[in-house]
Amino acid sequence: MITASTGSRQHGGASHVEALHPEALHPEASQPELWQSELADAVTDPGELLQLLGLDPRQVPHLTAALAGFPLRVPRGFVRRMRHADPEDPLLRQVLPGAAELIEQPGFGPDPLAEHRYHQVPGLLHKYRGRALLITTGACAVHCRYCFRREFPYGQAAAEGGRWSAALAAIAADPSIEEVILSGGDPLTLRTARLEQLSAGLAGISHLRRLRLHTRTPIVLPERVDDALLRWLSELRWPCVIVLHANHGSEIDDAVRAAARRLRATGATLLNQSVLLAGVNDSVSALEGLSLALWSAGVLPYYLNLLDRVRGSAHFEVTEARARALMAELAGRLPGYLVPRLVRDLAGSASKTVLGA
Ligand SMILES: *Cc1c(COP(=O)(O)O)cnc(C)c1O
Repeated sequence: MITASTGSRQHGGASHVEALHPEALHPEASQPELWQSELADAVTDPGELLQLLGLDPRQVPHLTAALAGFPLRVPRGFVRRMRHADPEDPLLRQVLPGAAELIEQPGFGPDPLAEHRYHQVPGLLHKYRGRALLITTGACAVHCRYCFRREFPYGQAAAEGGRWSAALAAIAADPSIEEVILSGGDPLTLRTARLEQLSAGLAGISHLRRLRLHTRTPIVLPERVDDALLRWLSELRWPCVIVLHANHGSEIDDAVRAAARRLRATGATLLNQSVLLAGVNDSVSALEGLSLALWSAGVLPYYLNLLDRVRGSAHFEVTEARARALMAELAGRLPGYLVPRLVRDLAGSASKTVLGA
């Protein structure tokens, strides 16, 4: 497990890496679906990634061995949306491990949101009134270098591996919880049969009013939005809110638009949260482009998060003053419903802190 106390840049042992492996890759999964094969075929070698983009691995500084605890993972379809031969491409920048990650910065730690404080029941984070967040898996379809849960102790979260009984019992015992958020990792890396098991367990809890999914998979792997998933969504007993995660307009192509259209057809509400990232989307034109691309996919912007200060991510940080200035300019260009709320997640506060909209 990750031992925060060592303070080293050692990203734990094999157990952590295993927890990050999409379950779909597990041999027990029978006949793989198309999306499972795409997931298994993701690029994991930085040298190969650069080669695919026509970049010389010797000239683009990147890191291979040092990030054993949080390896590169990016689906090939997402790589195809990157600009050829551009080392500054905003999509590439989100996923390519770099030497800047090894620089220790004061204020950047393994658990920037102090989530361990809210992690009383394995796999369940109950931080805000009425909403409880379920860590359904440690796996994601893509590994984002700025991920604030990159050092989350997934192996200790028993909701991992489908052992959700303790988390479900805690939700059932607390009538104040009206909404369950399926998070992770990314819940849509679980096979649909597993999602069905989970929603069947939740369906027995009468005080639940809403179900929410936090997922980046329909963006990076739109093939995941297949018939079985759509059937599951349409048969849920609660209205479902799906909060996607895209940071740049170029992440949204025709395949993503088609996937979003099919998700909406199930009756789900589609929102997007993004992170303000230096060198990725820290300009008014990039943020405007993102909102317009989301709109073209039928998705409304929800939150623009200031970076959570997880160690290794300092090079992505944008100052709060700059963020506020960008928001003011953005609001001058777009209709109000295409302007996300600028928020910061502060450990210990009762909600996300809204800084501007
Ligand atoms: C962000 C977050 C939520 C959801 O907050 P909303 O403002 O309702 O989107 C819930 N639980 C945890 C632990 C969170 O970090």
